[in-house]
Amino acid sequence: MILPFIDSHAHLNLMPETHSPGDVYDRAREAGLEALINVGTDLERSRESVRLSAQFPHVFATVGLHPSDADLWTPELQKEIELLSHAPGVVAIGETGLDFSYPEPSQEDQIHSFRGQIALATSRDLPLVIHCRDAFESLFSILESMSLPSRPGVLHCFTGDQKAADRALEMGFYLSFSGILTFRNAESLREVAKHVPHDRILVETDCPYLAPVPYRGKTNEPSYLPETLSVLSLTRAADPARLAMEIRNNTRTLFALPDSV
Ligand SMILES: [Zn+2]
Ligand SMILES: [Zn+2]
Repeated sequence: MILPFIDSHAHLNLMPETHSPGDVYDRAREAGLEALINVGTDLERSRESVRLSAQFPHVFATVGLHPSDADLWTPELQKEIELLSHAPGVVAIGETGLDFSYPEPSQEDQIHSFRGQIALATSRDLPLVIHCRDAFESLFSILESMSLPSRPGVLHCFTGDQKAADRALEMGFYLSFSGILTFRNAESLREVAKHVPHDRILVETDCPYLAPVPYRGKTNEPSYLPETLSVLSLTRAADPARLAMEIRNNTRTLFALPDSV
């Protein structure tokens, strides 16, 4: 049975040459893809996301700067991203956030870029796509100190503990789960995923990374997303069709997707 799904976080523009965006998109559509959010990670890749959104009817875009490139954040770049955020198909700002698992760029640079993008998202009233690794304390204290968009956003590829989940949910964020959920050693993450309210949960591939079991280690693509959904429905003891529908609705609400897709 094919259940329609929305991939809330993908990078079709970062796929290897063997995986052309057109082929990947076609395979995803055959597998039930209803919509896909293609996430920008720097200015050029944000432009690519906007182009993909123009090219494929079920693709939407985000524009922003990834924490791993946070040292590139300048007032000029902020202006460019702001301008690009008005393009058709743009539904969010990001991915931004904090990743302290790498020594570079400095935490100071990451925080500066993150704050700039929160301010931008709030002024445009677009939700934030947030990447966070080993930095939840700083992340929440920054988010709590600033005004946020009316739909605050999503913590993508969520791998935090229950405490981090509770704090994010309290602030109005959605939590998105990737193929990591299907990994054998991800028992504690599944325990967290079990308790996320049904109206605040999303799924994603984060392709080309993090392919779910049984594709683990291969190039990930949106047509694999049903594997993650099926583990999630087992984990939550939820009816697969119902869960798939709730997650689609959540994604539509967060990104204000048009009814026509
Ligand atoms: Zn990320
Ligand atoms: Zn990403």
